[in-house]
Amino acid sequence: MDCKEFQRMIPGFLDDELDNYSLEAFLNHMEKCKSCKEELTIQFLIEAGIQRLEDGSTFNLATELQTTMNDAWLRLRVRKRLLNAAFFLQIIVVAEIIAAIVLAIGLR
Ligand SMILES: [Zn+2]
Repeated sequence: MDCKEFQRMIPGFLDDELDNYSLEAFLNHMEKCKSCKEELTIQFLIEAGIQRLEDGSTFNLATELQTTMNDAWLRLRVRKRLLNAAFFLQIIVVAEIIAAIVLAIGLR
């Protein structure tokens, strides 16, 4: 992913609308690219800041940004694990079907 792509995806990231593949590429680029991280930080601060001003609640944006990043990694890991689990279950089902077919042929 290049910096242009990253910047196009920032709104999607902030709204949590990225799919697993995009989210991973996004987070990986952010870890490596200092200027994009800064850009994301600024956009996050603006978005979160405006929201807080509207609610009138107090906030610590630096902590919140860190939390948002950590959440994003966590979500990605959880989603991947779910995908792996689904894949594993499919293998079991296929294996059972094959076993049933082999058994059926054997019984004939
Ligand atoms: Zn970049």
